Amino acid sequence: MQINVSQLLREPIGAIRDFKVNEVADISGDGKGCLVQGECRLLRTQRSVLTKCAMNTEVELTCSRCLSPFRYPMTLKFEEEYLPTVDVVSGMPLPSPEAGVFTIDEHHILDLTEAICQYTLLAVPMKPLCHKDCAGLCPNCGHNLNQGRCNCLTQSTDPRWSELTKLL
Ligand SMILES: [Zn+2]
Ligand SMILES: [Zn+2]
Repeated sequence: MQINVSQLLREPIGAIRDFKVNEVADISGDGKGCLVQGECRLLRTQRSVLTKCAMNTEVELTCSRCLSPFRYPMTLKFEEEYLPTVDVVSGMPLPSPEAGVFTIDEHHILDLTEAICQYTLLAVPMKPLCHKDCAGLCPNCGHNLNQGRCNCLTQSTDPRWSELTKLL
């Protein structure tokens, strides 16, 4: 997700570059590559390069109910500003920008990977479900109920009460 913007930085304010993104990157931090496809527009502003991206990707998540891995497609849309760290004409270092701001490195490389990772994290649901009516696991034997019923007797009581039931 690295784009050389040395040429764009030399252009007047308002200059635009459009890029197609079609790359495999480790965006979910699990070491597995995900295919990221989409478009990115770069706009030269007075102090920076503004990026506007729309991308599709798919990450592997674990269902919070049945614990099975599943593919979760998502669309990432974001706008981020990237500040240069060296002056493109003189090669002199520029004052370091405030913390937390994306930067263009000294070789004029704008790297979208970190932004894509951050927006991926934001787009992942807190309790992912393989599908919205996932049947989950049998609380008794752990059988995945999406694959059919297990042999346990139908229990209407919550297993956590079973000790209490015995007492009664
Ligand atoms: Zn599930
Ligand atoms: Zn069971």
